[in-house]
Amino acid sequence: MTVLDQRLSHDDASDWEASAPDVEPTAEWAAEIRRLADARGATLLAHNYQLPAIQDVADHVGDSLALSRIAAEAPEGTIVFCGVHFMAETAKILSPDKTVLIPDARAGCSLADSITAEDLRAWKAEHPGAVVVSYVNTTAAVKAETDICCTSSNAVDVVRSIPADREVLFCPDQFLGAHVRRVTGRENMHVWAGECHVHAGINGEELSDQARSHPDAELFVHPECGCATSALYLAGEGAFPAERVKILSTGGMIDAARQSQARQVLVATEVGMLHQLRRAAPEIDFRAVNDRASCRFMKMITPGALLRCLQEGRDVIEVDPEIAEKARRSVQRMIEIGQPGSGE
Ligand code: SF4
Repeated sequence: MTVLDQRLSHDDASDWEASAPDVEPTAEWAAEIRRLADARGATLLAHNYQLPAIQDVADHVGDSLALSRIAAEAPEGTIVFCGVHFMAETAKILSPDKTVLIPDARAGCSLADSITAEDLRAWKAEHPGAVVVSYVNTTAAVKAETDICCTSSNAVDVVRSIPADREVLFCPDQFLGAHVRRVTGRENMHVWAGECHVHAGINGEELSDQARSHPDAELFVHPECGCATSALYLAGEGAFPAERVKILSTGGMIDAARQSQARQVLVATEVGMLHQLRRAAPEIDFRAVNDRASCRFMKMITPGALLRCLQEGRDVIEVDPEIAEKARRSVQRMIEIGQPGSGE
C-alpha cells in the first residue's frame, strides 16, 4: 500500500476530526510530500521542535519569527506551517493575502494558552497607562491587546525602549519575564505567571547534576526554561564558568553552535532542537539536559498529518481582519526594536 493509499483509506468525513493515520516517513512519503507541495504551489515551513522527518522534508526550518518572515516573502501563495497554532497565526497576520495551512489545528501551546485576551484586558484595567509587552508565543487576540511583542532575543531591548516612569505588563512567560527584570533592573514591571509545561520541566536540579558530570561542556539555555535562573546561579557560584553559559533563543543556538569550539554542549530546551544543532555542527556532541523535554503539541504534526494537509488543503488558519490589523501593529513594533532575531 502506498502512502497515498494509506491516507485515502481514511478520508471519510467522520475521520477528519480524529488524528491523521500513522504514516512511516519513508523516502516514498517524502517524495509524495514534495510532489503535493509543488502541485499546490505551497512552501513548507518547519519549526526547530518538529520531528526530524518533518524538518528534513521542509523548504525552511527555523524559529517562529524567522519562519513568519520567510512566509511573508515567499513567492508561493500557500504556506504550510509545521508548528503550533499561534505560529501559523503569526504567519497569517504577516501574510494576510496568503493561504496558511497547519497540518493539525489542534496543536496548541500551553504558554500561549496561559493568558487570554479577556485576562489581559482585565490586567490592563488594573494598571491604566501601563505598556503591554507580550512574548511572541501568544494568540492573535492577545497580540491585538498588546503594545509591543517581543522575542527572547529582543525582550530586554523592548523593555528598555519604554520610558522608565511607565509601568510595564509583561506576559505570558514568567521565566523570560524574570530574566528581563533581572537584566534591566526594572521595578515597575509586572510579570504574568504563565509558563510552558515543557520548559518548566527542565529544572535546576537536573541542570546542576549535568553541570557537575560534564565539567568541560558549554551550556545553551533557552530563557523560557525553568532552569535559566539556575544556570545563572551556577555560573555565579563558579560551578559552571560564566563564559560557558549561553542564554539563547532557538535561532541564537544555531549561530552559537556554528561558532563554538566546545566538544560537548548541554542543551536546555525542547529536544527537537538537537536535530538542527547536530546538522549545524556535526563535530559537537550535543546532549539534552532533560531528554523527556518534548512538546506534545509540536509532535501532533506527524508525517500522516502533513500528508493529509497537502492532500485536502486543511486546516486553514483564519484570523479576524480587525484583530489581525491590531496584532500586526504590535508585531511590527517588535521587528523595529533591537535585534528581534528569533522567537521560540
Ligand atoms: S515547547 Fe512550550 S512554548 Fe513551545 S510550543 Fe510547546 S508548549 Fe508552547
